[in-house]
Amino acid sequence: MWIGYVLVCIRLVGDGRIVNVWEDFWLANHRRLGPKPDSCEVVYVRDLLNDVGDAWNRDPLFSLFPHDVANKILCCFVSQSSPDTIYWLNSSHGQFSCKTAYFLALDTLLEVELNDTEDRMKLWHAVWKANVPNKIKLFIWRALHNYVPTVENMRIRRLNLSSFFCTHCGELGEDVMHILYRCSVAKEVWVRCSLDRLLEEGNPDTLEDLCHVILEKIPSSWELFLMILWGLWTRRNERFHGQLDGRAQEVDVVAKHLLLEYQVANKKELATISNEIKERGSWVKPQLQQVKLNTDASWQKETGRAGLGFVARNHNGEVLLSGARVECYAASPLEAEAKAIMWAMTHALSKNFQNVVFESDSLCLVNALRYRSVLRQITCLFSQILVSSEAFSTCNWSFVKREGNMVAHSIATWGLGHSEEIVLDGRVPDCTFFRATNDVLLSHV
Ligand SMILES: [Zn+2]
Repeated sequence: MWIGYVLVCIRLVGDGRIVNVWEDFWLANHRRLGPKPDSCEVVYVRDLLNDVGDAWNRDPLFSLFPHDVANKILCCFVSQSSPDTIYWLNSSHGQFSCKTAYFLALDTLLEVELNDTEDRMKLWHAVWKANVPNKIKLFIWRALHNYVPTVENMRIRRLNLSSFFCTHCGELGEDVMHILYRCSVAKEVWVRCSLDRLLEEGNPDTLEDLCHVILEKIPSSWELFLMILWGLWTRRNERFHGQLDGRAQEVDVVAKHLLLEYQVANKKELATISNEIKERGSWVKPQLQQVKLNTDASWQKETGRAGLGFVARNHNGEVLLSGARVECYAASPLEAEAKAIMWAMTHALSKNFQNVVFESDSLCLVNALRYRSVLRQITCLFSQILVSSEAFSTCNWSFVKREGNMVAHSIATWGLGHSEEIVLDGRVPDCTFFRATNDVLLSHV
């Protein structure tokens, strides 16, 4: 299975001049809106905006699309000042990542002819869920697609090579299976791990077969197995580029060591986060020079309408800005929460806040933003938040329990009752004045 780049990139709407309304994946659900109706003059997103280009033109939207789609489009942010971009999630700079491609590929199942069997899907899940560093998962993903520069692959692509033989053993035809399994150097490693017999019994033809043997027979060794595959490839590369010295350690020893080190560090990190979560039941002032933006959404299941609210406060707990508005549609509470963050972020940027921390009571969203992990339900919006966050000098994500987020919560609920967007400089709406004062009195920093 290989999914072409065109099919899996997300286009983020900025000024709408490049994003093709019909061909590109730009709405939150990744389905294409095309094909373009004959005689329709709308091609690019820009064609759906007003003359200035800062808001949607409702008429063509509702005449071209069903109401739910038109409403979804109305809820997308546009920006005159930034060009359209292609964004890959899960990488700090929006560059291509295989994991993103994988998840998006899953989303486009209906449009791409994929012949993935159940076994194969199980394999993908096992790869991405493994408790190993991301770079190793990515390598495995590429190796399974035969997307690594082996001698054989370079020969097929007619790249200049001085030799067509295996860098280790000198045999002809160095492909993925040779490097990771068939080569005598790889065999030695599998023997030392006592996996050689088991693997041979499975009579594997492909790397996929090899993975299935481990997943079925000894799933507890899955992670070590992945580490060793990566180790074999790394060592092959070092030799290929002439960097391997004679004192190099055994692949399996290094793999075990790295795996242990990674898993211990990972546990520590998780422990720190869960401690942090336990402690944070009340609002805490941000640090000096920092602005904390608490955000919340109040979502109505029946209609999809959501009240969005935010409050920005400085290190003294003084209110710098607050805002409430209604969002006509959000597909889920999560999407509503994300929209509240996005909206607060737009205001924080316009106020030129430099060091910001966004605080929400949605743990799932905060963690996903912290670790830039894909939230498939809201991919476009999520990536838009990440892209925008890069405009601040520093931008952090913080989780607080509902009790500590009451000011934003009450502003969001209050916002549901107002049709107009309300943004207040230096104060919160009267209805939540006492809560804001209380936060400061109780804040112990
Ligand atoms: Zn070899």
